[in-house]
Amino acid sequence: MPKIADYELWFVTGSQHLYGAETLKQVAVDSTEIAKALDASAAIPVNVVFKPVLVSPDSVSELVRAANNAPQCIGLITWCHTFSPSKMWINGLKHLQKPAVHLHTQYNRDIPWASIDMDFMNLNQAAHGDREHGFIWSRLRLPRKVVVGYWQEAKVQEKIGAFARAASAWADWQDAKFARFGDNMREVAVTEGDKVSAQFKFGYAVNYHPMGDLVKVINAFSEKEIDRLVAEYEDSYDITSDLRSNGSRASLVREQARIELGMRSFLQDGGFKGFTTTFEDLWGLEQLPGLAVQRLMASGYGFGAEGDWKTCALLRALKVMSTGLKGGTSFMEDYTYHLDPANPCVLGAHMLEVCPSIASAKPKLEAHPLGIGGKHDPARLVFNTPAGPAVGASLIDLGNRFRLLVNDLEVIDPPHAMPKLPVAQAMWKPLPTLEESCACWIYAGGAHHTAFSQAVTGEILEDFATIADIEYVSINAKTDVTEFKKDLRLGEVYYALSRGWAI
Ligand code: MN
Repeated sequence: MPKIADYELWFVTGSQHLYGAETLKQVAVDSTEIAKALDASAAIPVNVVFKPVLVSPDSVSELVRAANNAPQCIGLITWCHTFSPSKMWINGLKHLQKPAVHLHTQYNRDIPWASIDMDFMNLNQAAHGDREHGFIWSRLRLPRKVVVGYWQEAKVQEKIGAFARAASAWADWQDAKFARFGDNMREVAVTEGDKVSAQFKFGYAVNYHPMGDLVKVINAFSEKEIDRLVAEYEDSYDITSDLRSNGSRASLVREQARIELGMRSFLQDGGFKGFTTTFEDLWGLEQLPGLAVQRLMASGYGFGAEGDWKTCALLRALKVMSTGLKGGTSFMEDYTYHLDPANPCVLGAHMLEVCPSIASAKPKLEAHPLGIGGKHDPARLVFNTPAGPAVGASLIDLGNRFRLLVNDLEVIDPPHAMPKLPVAQAMWKPLPTLEESCACWIYAGGAHHTAFSQAVTGEILEDFATIADIEYVSINAKTDVTEFKKDLRLGEVYYALSRGWAI
């Protein structure tokens, strides 16, 4: 996982020569103070670095070139303390390759009623300077987030923090590689997609790797190395006696340990940030990877089952966004409904692969038969997920564009025990209601797989979609199905007219 605390947002203040050296000096002093306060804010998980005040077209172009070339710079925070004529920004901004947030704030919170004079008015012009600045971004059709409010307020810093998380995940995607072990589950549509468009749009590469290459690595691990990992399992999870190292079914756990060692080594050596599997290609494996995948997700790897590379990449992005936040993040599938009108809810799970970062208590390590794939009983972690707010996100390839679809969820404690359920589970009520949420999700073409998180918010994901410059569609407490359908139709027109059929 990237150390997002090492990433930088560059704090860039626009001005001009017109005001004279003294005012510009004050602009720099005030901007430095704001940048330092944002840097110190616990709500912003990256460094905020003050950059010299921009007063000319050349200085903007130079700043943009430096930002594009600095790997640790994940984006810009722009602000105009005074007026900064925006034609001087055009040649720089047209080359900007990093995300941006426009902070519309003012150094002074309050009007100094008794002393306000023209000097104060000259210095504190953000109210109109930032309008000139906003115009040029809109005029150039450039995506950015706009945050409005006093810079010391928690709410304002949290909005910049959300942007910083989205920009961190974006930076992480730019050189990412995802491995597909085997290809797609045969005939499934939603897990397919245009990997060339995805690489062009998102920066990450997805390539196929044959199971034979992975199995070779898996089989190279010694019994001693497997012993060590099994001992770690026994320390970390509740294990029934038959699965312990001296138990009658110990070999089922050893097989997952062997798979984990091999997969981890393959991913590390190849520099991959995530992977997919498919139960239709388990060549050379004795079990469908279960525990192994769960533990790799917990280490920060993206994952998609059945060849689902879009959910794999999205999960990795959410893992990066959630760095340091309370609550876990997992691959998930809408599995089964409870349609009792008094308490409708969704049971989310997967065949095996749910990340233990969302476990409410110490997971149980169990092995059960799997009625699909024709392999040995795979070992897997079984647990529940704590109640509280969450999101489910799906990245959809619509042929002419990508759409990020996000549903706000409320995870609940299951109303009854499910003693025979052999997999990890999360149970939730989707907002606004199950009926409306599911209708909207299906109209929008959302997948059955999601990246599920109890840490990442809709705001972070909306910022991410803005940075990626793709369609963002949210299903939340305020969603109305009729209006939602209109928004989807509007999106069809917008993307056809604004981009044509090229991505
Ligand atoms: Mn699935």
